[in-house]
Amino acid sequence: MSKDFIPPAKPIIGQEERDAVDRVLASGQLAQGSEVAAFENEFSSVLLDGRASVAVNSGTSGLHLGLLAAGIGPGDEVIVPSFTFAATANSVALTGATPVFADIELEHFCLDPASVEEKITDRTKGIMPVHLYGHPFNVEAFEALAAKHGVALFEDAAQAHGAKANGRRVGTFGTFAMFSLYPTKNMTSGEGGMVSTGDAEVERRLRLLRNQGMERQYENELVGFNNRMTNIHAAIGRVQLTKVLGWTDQRRANAAFLDANIEGVVTPRVAEGYEHVYHQYTVRVADDRDGFVKALREEHNVGSGVYYPIPNHRLAPFRTSDDLPVTEQAAAEVVSLPVHPSLSQDDFERIVEAVNTVAKAGA
Ligand SMILES: *Cc1c(COP(=O)(O)O)cnc(C)c1O
Repeated sequence: MSKDFIPPAKPIIGQEERDAVDRVLASGQLAQGSEVAAFENEFSSVLLDGRASVAVNSGTSGLHLGLLAAGIGPGDEVIVPSFTFAATANSVALTGATPVFADIELEHFCLDPASVEEKITDRTKGIMPVHLYGHPFNVEAFEALAAKHGVALFEDAAQAHGAKANGRRVGTFGTFAMFSLYPTKNMTSGEGGMVSTGDAEVERRLRLLRNQGMERQYENELVGFNNRMTNIHAAIGRVQLTKVLGWTDQRRANAAFLDANIEGVVTPRVAEGYEHVYHQYTVRVADDRDGFVKALREEHNVGSGVYYPIPNHRLAPFRTSDDLPVTEQAAAEVVSLPVHPSLSQDDFERIVEAVNTVAKAGA
């Protein structure tokens, strides 16, 4: 096969990121400091309409500390999707609370409010839906559900930098929201996470928890972690932040091209009034998804990803007997095609050709 491999994801790191890292290294101020503070302020203004953000060393730490700061702990239940990366449920379990799995809706692969309502008990303290693949969960329905039952709403926005629901930015609805800055996400700091909150007390606890329980040096107020972001990572993130909205426009244009041209698979839908940021462009292949993935790779040199092949409620740490039929269907049928902004028009033409050829052969 002569054509280059088209990877399913690829971070874009340029000279500006390198220069920013060099500047920090030259300064000698490597750990959490002024770069981190500047990154937090800029993240808030670019992506959160000014809502406060707190930087941590990973998205998973962000979820964990966010839940602790919101008062989640042993004896509590937090309802989460099973169809997500395991970090969502891991972070609940790490607080000592129990992750309770609810089903998703097939249109957008996000948590289904009706399924969540069935799972609410008198131990339920929160609901943590995921803006999966960059499509916002049903924000209005979850706000209403949380209010009706007197439980908190938390956002796993790991994949959804810049997404909007009826003009409102994700990350501004929940008690807290977490954005991941892992290299394959829509922007990166190497590793890292950003937690947004509109609650001053939660913000203060987040700042204490990430830094051994200290606000002032050696005056520890609670048992905390070292989950700080470094100035080196923040410097990369600050540069990426100046580019993420442009990259998102490119992701949308790429998705529109795929929407208009691919045939034989179910293309992603966007809810009325919502803005998808296409962290993933995820289609459904009802018949032999694994064969489809293999043929794309072996016959066309086109990479793709299956997120996620095993639902959390069937993974060893969380195994339950929950009946989640839509989750099972999605796990069997989803494939994410390359949509990232480093690909060329030529690449997208090859992806379309590959998908259409393989889908037709399978039919
Ligand atoms: C990436 C991701 C996380 C965890 O983020 P890390 O930065 O990798 O720790 C959590 N939830 C979802 C849905 C993710 O995609």
